[in-house]
Amino acid sequence: MSTTHFSMVELIGEKRDGGILADDALAWIITSYVDETVPDYQMSALLMAIFLNGMNSDELAAWTRAMLYSGDVLDCSEIPGKKIDKHSTGGVGDKVTIPLAPMVAACGVPIPMMSGRGLGHTGGTRDKLESIRGMQTAFDPETFMDLLRRNNVVLGGQSATLVPADRLIYALRDASATVPSIPLISSSIMSKKLAEDLDGLVLDVKVGSGAFMKTIADARLLAETMVGIGASHGTKVVAFLTDMDQPLGDEIGNASEIRESIDVLHGGGPADLVEITYLLGREMLVLGGVAETHEAAQDMLSDAVESGRAFETFRTIVASQGGDVAMIDNPDLLPIAEHAYVVRAAADGWVQRCDALDIGVASVRLGGGRETKEAEIDPSVGITVHAKVGAAVETGDPLATITYAEANKLEAALAAMESAWQIGPVAVTEPSILLDEVR
Ligand code: URA
Repeated sequence: MSTTHFSMVELIGEKRDGGILADDALAWIITSYVDETVPDYQMSALLMAIFLNGMNSDELAAWTRAMLYSGDVLDCSEIPGKKIDKHSTGGVGDKVTIPLAPMVAACGVPIPMMSGRGLGHTGGTRDKLESIRGMQTAFDPETFMDLLRRNNVVLGGQSATLVPADRLIYALRDASATVPSIPLISSSIMSKKLAEDLDGLVLDVKVGSGAFMKTIADARLLAETMVGIGASHGTKVVAFLTDMDQPLGDEIGNASEIRESIDVLHGGGPADLVEITYLLGREMLVLGGVAETHEAAQDMLSDAVESGRAFETFRTIVASQGGDVAMIDNPDLLPIAEHAYVVRAAADGWVQRCDALDIGVASVRLGGGRETKEAEIDPSVGITVHAKVGAAVETGDPLATITYAEANKLEAALAAMESAWQIGPVAVTEPSILLDEVR
Protein backbone atom coordinates (compact mmCIF):
# COMPACT_ATOMS: atom_id res chain seq x y z
CA MET A 1 0.00 0.00 0.00
CA SER A 2 1.24 3.47 -0.89
CA THR A 3 1.98 5.92 1.93
CA THR A 4 2.81 8.92 -0.28
CA HIS A 5 0.07 11.52 -0.49
CA PHE A 6 -1.02 12.71 -3.91
CA SER A 7 -3.41 15.38 -5.08
CA MET A 8 -6.25 13.74 -7.02
CA VAL A 9 -6.96 17.03 -8.83
CA GLU A 10 -3.37 17.14 -10.10
CA LEU A 11 -3.42 13.48 -11.14
CA ILE A 12 -6.69 13.96 -13.07
CA GLY A 13 -5.16 17.01 -14.79
CA GLU A 14 -2.02 15.06 -15.69
CA LYS A 15 -4.04 12.24 -17.25
CA ARG A 16 -6.39 14.71 -18.98
CA ASP A 17 -3.35 16.32 -20.66
CA GLY A 18 -1.99 12.99 -21.91
CA GLY A 19 0.53 12.42 -19.13
CA ILE A 20 1.71 9.06 -17.76
CA LEU A 21 0.85 8.29 -14.14
CA ALA A 22 3.48 6.60 -11.95
CA ASP A 23 2.92 3.18 -10.31
CA ASP A 24 2.65 4.61 -6.78
CA ALA A 25 0.18 7.29 -7.90
CA LEU A 26 -2.04 4.66 -9.54
CA ALA A 27 -1.86 2.43 -6.43
CA TRP A 28 -2.76 5.44 -4.26
CA ILE A 29 -5.79 6.26 -6.44
CA ILE A 30 -7.22 2.74 -6.17
CA THR A 31 -6.57 2.46 -2.42
CA SER A 32 -8.02 5.91 -1.76
CA TYR A 33 -11.10 5.22 -3.87
CA VAL A 34 -11.84 1.93 -2.12
CA ASP A 35 -11.41 3.55 1.32
CA GLU A 36 -13.64 6.44 0.15
CA THR A 37 -11.00 9.19 0.49
CA VAL A 38 -11.32 9.87 -3.24
CA PRO A 39 -14.99 10.65 -4.07
CA ASP A 40 -16.97 9.29 -7.03
CA TYR A 41 -16.90 12.59 -8.94
CA GLN A 42 -13.10 12.69 -9.00
CA MET A 43 -12.83 9.02 -9.92
CA SER A 44 -15.38 9.56 -12.74
CA ALA A 45 -13.28 12.40 -14.10
CA LEU A 46 -10.16 10.24 -14.04
CA LEU A 47 -11.98 7.34 -15.73
CA MET A 48 -13.06 9.69 -18.52
CA ALA A 49 -9.46 10.91 -18.90
CA ILE A 50 -8.34 7.24 -19.14
CA PHE A 51 -11.18 6.54 -21.58
CA LEU A 52 -10.03 9.41 -23.82
CA ASN A 53 -6.24 9.09 -23.50
CA GLY A 54 -5.70 5.39 -22.75
CA MET A 55 -2.93 3.93 -20.62
CA ASN A 56 0.49 2.62 -21.57
CA SER A 57 1.47 -0.94 -20.66
CA ASP A 58 3.31 0.08 -17.46
CA GLU A 59 0.36 2.12 -16.24
CA LEU A 60 -2.03 -0.70 -17.07
CA ALA A 61 0.08 -3.29 -15.22
CA ALA A 62 0.26 -1.06 -12.11
CA TRP A 63 -3.47 -0.15 -12.26
CA THR A 64 -4.47 -3.84 -12.64
CA ARG A 65 -2.11 -4.89 -9.81
CA ALA A 66 -3.61 -2.24 -7.51
CA MET A 67 -7.14 -3.44 -8.34
CA LEU A 68 -6.16 -7.08 -7.85
CA TYR A 69 -4.80 -6.40 -4.35
CA SER A 70 -7.72 -4.15 -3.32
CA GLY A 71 -9.31 -7.12 -1.49
CA ASP A 72 -8.89 -10.85 -0.82
CA VAL A 73 -6.78 -12.90 -3.21
CA LEU A 74 -7.14 -16.70 -3.34
CA ASP A 75 -4.14 -18.79 -2.36
CA CYS A 76 -4.32 -22.02 -4.39
CA SER A 77 -0.72 -23.08 -3.66
CA GLU A 78 -1.80 -26.13 -1.63
CA ILE A 79 -3.78 -27.52 -4.62
CA PRO A 80 -1.49 -29.76 -6.69
CA GLY A 81 -1.19 -29.01 -10.40
CA LYS A 82 -1.41 -25.87 -12.48
CA LYS A 83 -4.60 -23.92 -11.86
CA ILE A 84 -6.23 -22.85 -15.12
CA ASP A 85 -9.35 -20.84 -15.89
CA LYS A 86 -11.20 -19.60 -18.95
CA HIS A 87 -12.97 -16.30 -19.42
CA SER A 88 -15.31 -15.13 -22.15
CA THR A 89 -15.83 -11.43 -22.77
CA GLY A 90 -19.54 -12.22 -23.09
CA GLY A 91 -22.05 -13.01 -25.77
CA VAL A 92 -25.44 -14.48 -26.64
CA GLY A 93 -25.94 -18.22 -26.10
CA ASP A 94 -22.42 -18.51 -24.70
CA LYS A 95 -22.77 -21.41 -22.26
CA VAL A 96 -19.29 -22.85 -22.96
CA THR A 97 -18.14 -22.75 -19.32
CA ILE A 98 -20.82 -25.24 -18.29
CA PRO A 99 -19.63 -28.22 -20.35
CA LEU A 100 -16.00 -27.05 -20.52
CA ALA A 101 -15.17 -26.86 -16.80
CA PRO A 102 -16.24 -30.46 -15.99
CA MET A 103 -14.56 -31.80 -19.16
CA VAL A 104 -11.23 -30.15 -18.33
CA ALA A 105 -11.42 -30.99 -14.61
CA ALA A 106 -12.15 -34.63 -15.53
CA CYS A 107 -8.77 -34.60 -17.33
CA GLY A 108 -7.00 -33.57 -14.11
CA VAL A 109 -6.68 -29.77 -14.38
CA PRO A 110 -7.80 -27.80 -11.28
CA ILE A 111 -10.28 -25.03 -12.17
CA PRO A 112 -11.07 -22.29 -9.63
CA MET A 113 -13.76 -20.73 -11.84
CA MET A 114 -15.55 -17.52 -10.89
CA SER A 115 -18.20 -16.44 -13.36
CA GLY A 116 -20.44 -13.42 -13.71
CA ARG A 117 -24.13 -12.73 -14.10
CA GLY A 118 -25.82 -11.53 -17.28
CA LEU A 119 -24.77 -8.05 -18.38
CA GLY A 120 -27.06 -6.15 -20.77
CA HIS A 121 -28.08 -8.46 -23.61
CA THR A 122 -25.39 -11.06 -22.74
CA GLY A 123 -26.20 -14.06 -20.54
CA GLY A 124 -24.28 -15.00 -17.39
CA THR A 125 -23.05 -18.43 -16.33
CA ARG A 126 -24.19 -17.90 -12.71
CA ASP A 127 -27.76 -17.13 -13.78
CA LYS A 128 -27.80 -20.20 -16.01
CA LEU A 129 -26.46 -22.50 -13.28
CA GLU A 130 -29.06 -21.19 -10.85
CA SER A 131 -31.83 -22.62 -13.07
CA ILE A 132 -30.88 -25.91 -11.40
CA ARG A 133 -32.97 -26.04 -8.23
CA GLY A 134 -30.87 -25.32 -5.11
CA MET A 135 -27.62 -24.63 -7.03
CA GLN A 136 -25.34 -22.25 -5.09
CA THR A 137 -22.69 -20.08 -6.71
CA ALA A 138 -21.87 -17.54 -3.96
CA PHE A 139 -19.12 -18.78 -1.65
CA ASP A 140 -16.82 -17.15 0.85
CA PRO A 141 -13.12 -17.82 0.09
CA GLU A 142 -12.89 -20.67 2.68
CA THR A 143 -15.87 -22.56 1.24
CA PHE A 144 -14.61 -21.92 -2.29
CA MET A 145 -11.22 -23.42 -1.42
CA ASP A 146 -12.85 -26.36 0.35
CA LEU A 147 -14.87 -27.18 -2.80
CA LEU A 148 -11.75 -26.83 -4.95
CA ARG A 149 -9.82 -29.21 -2.66
CA ARG A 150 -12.63 -31.79 -2.81
CA ASN A 151 -13.68 -31.61 -6.47
CA ASN A 152 -10.73 -29.99 -8.30
CA VAL A 153 -13.28 -27.58 -9.80
CA VAL A 154 -15.69 -24.92 -8.58
CA LEU A 155 -18.34 -23.12 -10.62
CA GLY A 156 -18.64 -20.10 -8.36
CA GLY A 157 -19.31 -16.39 -8.60
CA GLN A 158 -17.31 -13.32 -7.79
CA SER A 159 -17.20 -13.03 -3.99
CA ALA A 160 -17.86 -9.59 -2.50
CA THR A 161 -14.40 -9.44 -0.93
CA LEU A 162 -12.49 -10.24 -4.14
CA VAL A 163 -11.37 -7.16 -6.12
CA PRO A 164 -13.77 -4.67 -4.46
CA ALA A 165 -12.15 -1.93 -6.57
CA ASP A 166 -13.67 -3.47 -9.70
CA ARG A 167 -17.16 -3.63 -8.22
CA LEU A 168 -17.00 0.08 -7.34
CA ILE A 169 -15.31 1.22 -10.55
CA TYR A 170 -17.60 -0.89 -12.75
CA ALA A 171 -20.72 0.70 -11.25
CA LEU A 172 -19.19 4.14 -11.81
CA ARG A 173 -18.25 3.30 -15.42
CA ASP A 174 -21.80 2.15 -16.06
CA ALA A 175 -23.07 5.56 -14.88
CA SER A 176 -20.39 7.69 -16.57
CA ALA A 177 -20.29 6.30 -20.15
CA THR A 178 -16.81 4.84 -19.65
CA VAL A 179 -17.53 1.09 -20.05
CA PRO A 180 -16.21 0.53 -23.62
CA SER A 181 -12.57 1.38 -22.96
CA ILE A 182 -9.88 -1.22 -23.68
CA PRO A 183 -7.68 -0.39 -20.63
CA LEU A 184 -10.72 -0.29 -18.33
CA ILE A 185 -12.26 -3.52 -19.68
CA SER A 186 -8.94 -5.39 -19.68
CA SER A 187 -7.98 -4.32 -16.14
CA SER A 188 -11.48 -5.17 -14.89
CA ILE A 189 -11.39 -8.69 -16.34
CA MET A 190 -7.74 -9.45 -15.58
CA SER A 191 -7.77 -8.19 -11.97
CA LYS A 192 -10.62 -10.60 -11.18
CA LYS A 193 -9.05 -13.53 -12.99
CA LEU A 194 -5.58 -13.00 -11.50
CA ALA A 195 -7.17 -12.86 -8.01
CA GLU A 196 -7.97 -16.57 -8.52
CA ASP A 197 -4.21 -17.30 -8.21
CA LEU A 198 -4.03 -18.87 -11.68
CA ASP A 199 -1.09 -20.41 -13.51
CA GLY A 200 -2.77 -19.98 -16.87
CA LEU A 201 -5.81 -18.40 -18.45
CA VAL A 202 -7.59 -18.99 -21.75
CA LEU A 203 -9.62 -16.04 -23.04
CA ASP A 204 -12.50 -16.21 -25.48
CA VAL A 205 -12.72 -12.69 -26.90
CA LYS A 206 -16.03 -12.36 -28.69
CA VAL A 207 -16.31 -10.27 -31.85
CA GLY A 208 -19.46 -9.07 -33.61
CA SER A 209 -22.92 -7.62 -33.13
CA GLY A 210 -23.61 -9.47 -29.87
CA ALA A 211 -20.18 -8.71 -28.33
CA PHE A 212 -18.64 -5.67 -26.61
CA MET A 213 -16.02 -5.61 -29.37
CA LYS A 214 -17.67 -5.07 -32.74
CA THR A 215 -14.56 -5.31 -34.96
CA ILE A 216 -11.68 -7.78 -35.20
CA ALA A 217 -9.21 -4.88 -34.83
CA ASP A 218 -10.71 -3.81 -31.47
CA ALA A 219 -10.99 -7.41 -30.28
CA ARG A 220 -7.35 -8.08 -31.20
CA LEU A 221 -6.24 -4.99 -29.29
CA LEU A 222 -8.26 -6.09 -26.24
CA ALA A 223 -6.80 -9.62 -26.50
CA GLU A 224 -3.22 -8.31 -26.86
CA THR A 225 -3.76 -5.98 -23.90
CA MET A 226 -5.00 -8.81 -21.66
CA VAL A 227 -2.22 -11.17 -22.79
CA GLY A 228 0.23 -8.36 -21.93
CA ILE A 229 -1.27 -7.85 -18.46
CA GLY A 230 -0.94 -11.60 -17.86
CA ALA A 231 2.72 -11.52 -18.93
CA SER A 232 3.47 -8.58 -16.61
CA HIS A 233 2.00 -10.68 -13.77
CA GLY A 234 3.85 -13.88 -14.77
CA THR A 235 0.65 -15.67 -15.82
CA LYS A 236 0.46 -17.29 -19.26
CA VAL A 237 -2.61 -16.08 -21.14
CA VAL A 238 -3.81 -17.33 -24.53
CA ALA A 239 -6.67 -15.51 -26.27
CA PHE A 240 -8.95 -16.72 -29.06
CA LEU A 241 -11.08 -14.31 -31.07
CA THR A 242 -14.38 -15.99 -31.90
CA ASP A 243 -17.49 -14.99 -33.81
CA MET A 244 -20.42 -13.39 -31.99
CA ASP A 245 -22.35 -12.00 -34.97
CA GLN A 246 -24.87 -14.79 -34.40
CA PRO A 247 -25.70 -16.65 -31.17
CA LEU A 248 -23.49 -19.54 -30.07
CA GLY A 249 -25.32 -22.87 -30.14
CA ASP A 250 -29.06 -23.08 -30.72
CA GLU A 251 -30.40 -22.21 -27.28
CA ILE A 252 -30.60 -18.73 -25.74
CA GLY A 253 -32.05 -18.75 -22.25
CA ASN A 254 -31.06 -20.04 -18.85
CA ALA A 255 -32.52 -23.51 -18.21
CA SER A 256 -32.46 -24.20 -21.98
CA GLU A 257 -28.72 -23.46 -22.07
CA ILE A 258 -28.16 -25.96 -19.25
CA ARG A 259 -30.00 -28.55 -21.35
CA GLU A 260 -27.79 -27.81 -24.35
CA SER A 261 -24.66 -27.97 -22.17
CA ILE A 262 -25.71 -31.41 -20.92
CA ASP A 263 -26.05 -32.52 -24.56
CA VAL A 264 -22.40 -31.55 -25.10
CA LEU A 265 -21.35 -33.49 -21.99
CA HIS A 266 -23.13 -36.53 -23.44
CA GLY A 267 -21.28 -36.18 -26.75
CA GLY A 268 -23.94 -34.23 -28.67
CA GLY A 269 -24.77 -30.54 -29.04
CA PRO A 270 -24.55 -28.08 -31.95
CA ALA A 271 -21.33 -28.04 -33.98
CA ASP A 272 -20.31 -24.41 -33.23
CA LEU A 273 -20.68 -24.88 -29.46
CA VAL A 274 -18.78 -28.17 -29.57
CA GLU A 275 -16.01 -26.59 -31.67
CA ILE A 276 -15.40 -23.72 -29.23
CA THR A 277 -15.66 -25.97 -26.17
CA TYR A 278 -12.94 -28.32 -27.48
CA LEU A 279 -10.81 -25.43 -28.81
CA LEU A 280 -10.65 -23.81 -25.37
CA GLY A 281 -10.40 -27.17 -23.61
CA ARG A 282 -7.37 -28.27 -25.64
CA GLU A 283 -5.54 -25.07 -24.73
CA MET A 284 -6.45 -25.46 -21.04
CA LEU A 285 -5.07 -29.00 -20.97
CA VAL A 286 -1.80 -27.89 -22.59
CA LEU A 287 -1.47 -24.85 -20.28
CA GLY A 288 -2.32 -27.11 -17.34
CA GLY A 289 0.58 -29.40 -18.29
CA VAL A 290 -1.54 -32.57 -18.53
CA ALA A 291 -1.24 -32.79 -22.34
CA GLU A 292 1.89 -32.13 -24.39
CA THR A 293 0.11 -31.40 -27.65
CA HIS A 294 -3.30 -30.18 -28.74
CA GLU A 295 -3.88 -33.53 -30.47
CA ALA A 296 -3.27 -35.39 -27.21
CA ALA A 297 -5.53 -32.92 -25.41
CA GLN A 298 -8.32 -33.53 -27.94
CA ASP A 299 -8.10 -37.30 -27.31
CA MET A 300 -8.23 -36.76 -23.55
CA LEU A 301 -11.29 -34.50 -23.78
CA SER A 302 -13.08 -36.93 -26.13
CA ASP A 303 -12.31 -39.78 -23.75
CA ALA A 304 -13.62 -37.80 -20.76
CA VAL A 305 -16.92 -37.27 -22.60
CA GLU A 306 -17.25 -40.76 -24.13
CA SER A 307 -16.43 -42.54 -20.85
CA GLY A 308 -19.03 -40.48 -18.96
CA ARG A 309 -16.37 -38.99 -16.62
CA ALA A 310 -17.07 -35.41 -17.75
CA PHE A 311 -20.79 -35.76 -17.04
CA GLU A 312 -20.02 -37.49 -13.72
CA THR A 313 -17.79 -34.50 -12.80
CA PHE A 314 -20.67 -32.13 -13.61
CA ARG A 315 -22.96 -34.23 -11.36
CA THR A 316 -20.40 -33.94 -8.56
CA ILE A 317 -20.19 -30.15 -9.00
CA VAL A 318 -23.98 -29.80 -8.95
CA ALA A 319 -24.40 -32.08 -5.94
CA SER A 320 -21.68 -30.40 -3.87
CA GLN A 321 -22.94 -26.92 -4.72
CA GLY A 322 -26.44 -27.80 -3.44
CA GLY A 323 -28.10 -28.41 -6.83
CA ASP A 324 -30.79 -30.97 -7.59
CA VAL A 325 -28.96 -33.73 -9.48
CA ALA A 326 -32.27 -35.20 -10.68
CA MET A 327 -32.57 -32.17 -13.01
CA ILE A 328 -29.21 -33.01 -14.54
CA ASP A 329 -30.03 -36.68 -14.92
CA ASN A 330 -33.35 -35.79 -16.50
CA PRO A 331 -33.14 -32.30 -18.11
CA ASP A 332 -36.90 -32.40 -18.78
CA LEU A 333 -37.23 -31.52 -15.09
CA LEU A 334 -35.49 -28.16 -15.66
CA PRO A 335 -37.97 -25.25 -15.81
CA ILE A 336 -39.65 -24.64 -19.16
CA ALA A 337 -42.32 -22.01 -19.83
CA GLU A 338 -45.76 -23.09 -20.90
CA HIS A 339 -46.20 -21.32 -24.26
CA ALA A 340 -44.37 -21.52 -27.57
CA TYR A 341 -44.45 -19.23 -30.62
CA VAL A 342 -42.72 -20.06 -33.89
CA VAL A 343 -41.06 -17.32 -35.97
CA ARG A 344 -41.19 -18.28 -39.65
CA ALA A 345 -39.28 -17.32 -42.80
CA ALA A 346 -41.05 -14.69 -44.90
CA ALA A 347 -39.18 -15.61 -48.10
CA ASP A 348 -37.26 -18.40 -49.83
CA GLY A 349 -33.47 -18.13 -49.82
CA TRP A 350 -30.45 -18.37 -47.59
CA VAL A 351 -30.02 -16.91 -44.13
CA GLN A 352 -27.59 -13.98 -44.52
CA ARG A 353 -27.89 -12.69 -40.96
CA CYS A 354 -29.10 -14.10 -37.64
CA ASP A 355 -28.30 -11.19 -35.37
CA ALA A 356 -26.89 -11.99 -31.92
CA LEU A 357 -27.67 -8.57 -30.46
CA ASP A 358 -31.34 -8.58 -31.52
CA ILE A 359 -31.83 -12.13 -30.24
CA GLY A 360 -30.01 -11.33 -26.98
CA VAL A 361 -32.22 -8.27 -26.42
CA ALA A 362 -35.31 -10.38 -27.20
CA SER A 363 -34.25 -12.95 -24.60
CA VAL A 364 -33.88 -10.20 -21.97
CA ARG A 365 -37.37 -8.91 -22.84
CA LEU A 366 -38.82 -12.38 -22.37
CA GLY A 367 -37.43 -12.28 -18.82
CA GLY A 368 -34.27 -14.31 -19.50
CA GLY A 369 -32.11 -11.31 -18.52
CA ARG A 370 -32.47 -8.24 -16.30
CA GLU A 371 -33.91 -4.95 -17.57
CA THR A 372 -33.21 -3.37 -14.15
CA LYS A 373 -30.54 -4.27 -11.61
CA GLU A 374 -33.12 -5.71 -9.22
CA ALA A 375 -35.13 -7.72 -11.80
CA GLU A 376 -35.51 -11.47 -11.27
CA ILE A 377 -34.51 -13.81 -14.06
CA ASP A 378 -37.13 -16.24 -15.37
CA PRO A 379 -35.09 -19.39 -16.07
CA SER A 380 -37.94 -21.07 -17.98
CA VAL A 381 -38.08 -18.75 -21.02
CA GLY A 382 -35.85 -18.68 -24.07
CA ILE A 383 -35.33 -18.77 -27.81
CA THR A 384 -34.39 -21.84 -29.84
CA VAL A 385 -32.75 -20.90 -33.13
CA HIS A 386 -33.51 -23.25 -36.03
CA ALA A 387 -31.81 -21.44 -38.96
CA LYS A 388 -28.41 -19.76 -38.72
CA VAL A 389 -26.24 -18.03 -41.31
CA GLY A 390 -25.84 -20.19 -44.42
CA ALA A 391 -29.01 -22.25 -43.90
CA ALA A 392 -31.35 -22.63 -46.90
CA VAL A 393 -34.97 -21.88 -46.01
CA GLU A 394 -38.34 -21.78 -47.72
CA THR A 395 -41.20 -19.42 -46.93
CA GLY A 396 -42.90 -20.61 -43.73
CA ASP A 397 -39.96 -22.63 -42.44
CA PRO A 398 -39.30 -22.14 -38.70
CA LEU A 399 -36.46 -19.72 -37.92
CA ALA A 400 -36.87 -19.84 -34.14
CA THR A 401 -39.18 -21.03 -31.39
CA ILE A 402 -39.84 -18.59 -28.55
CA THR A 403 -40.72 -20.21 -25.24
CA TYR A 404 -42.56 -17.63 -23.14
CA ALA A 405 -44.59 -17.15 -20.01
CA GLU A 406 -46.43 -13.85 -20.61
CA ALA A 407 -48.04 -12.57 -23.85
CA ASN A 408 -46.85 -8.96 -23.38
CA LYS A 409 -43.26 -10.18 -23.04
CA LEU A 410 -43.61 -12.24 -26.22
CA GLU A 411 -44.71 -9.07 -28.05
CA ALA A 412 -41.73 -7.12 -26.72
CA ALA A 413 -39.38 -9.94 -27.74
CA LEU A 414 -40.87 -10.15 -31.24
CA ALA A 415 -40.40 -6.39 -31.66
CA ALA A 416 -36.70 -6.75 -30.71
CA MET A 417 -36.28 -9.61 -33.18
CA GLU A 418 -38.16 -8.00 -36.06
CA SER A 419 -35.09 -7.68 -38.28
CA ALA A 420 -32.86 -10.30 -36.64
CA TRP A 421 -33.03 -12.57 -39.69
CA GLN A 422 -32.16 -11.47 -43.17
CA ILE A 423 -32.93 -13.90 -45.97
CA GLY A 424 -31.49 -13.30 -49.42
CA PRO A 425 -31.40 -15.01 -52.82
CA VAL A 426 -27.65 -15.66 -52.79
CA ALA A 427 -26.15 -18.71 -51.06
CA VAL A 428 -23.69 -17.85 -48.27
CA THR A 429 -21.25 -20.15 -46.54
CA GLU A 430 -21.38 -20.80 -42.80
CA PRO A 431 -19.05 -18.32 -41.07
CA SER A 432 -15.92 -19.55 -39.28
CA ILE A 433 -16.11 -19.57 -35.51
CA LEU A 434 -12.40 -19.03 -34.84
CA LEU A 435 -11.25 -15.67 -36.22
CA ASP A 436 -7.78 -15.27 -34.73
CA GLU A 437 -5.60 -16.04 -31.72
CA VAL A 438 -3.12 -14.11 -29.62
CA ARG A 439 -0.50 -15.83 -27.47
N1 URA B 1 -16.52 -7.79 -18.18
C1 URA B 1 -15.89 -7.32 -17.08
O1 URA B 1 -15.68 -8.06 -16.12
N2 URA B 1 -15.48 -6.05 -17.07
C2 URA B 1 -15.69 -5.21 -18.10
O2 URA B 1 -15.28 -4.07 -18.01
C3 URA B 1 -16.36 -5.69 -19.24
C4 URA B 1 -16.77 -7.00 -19.26
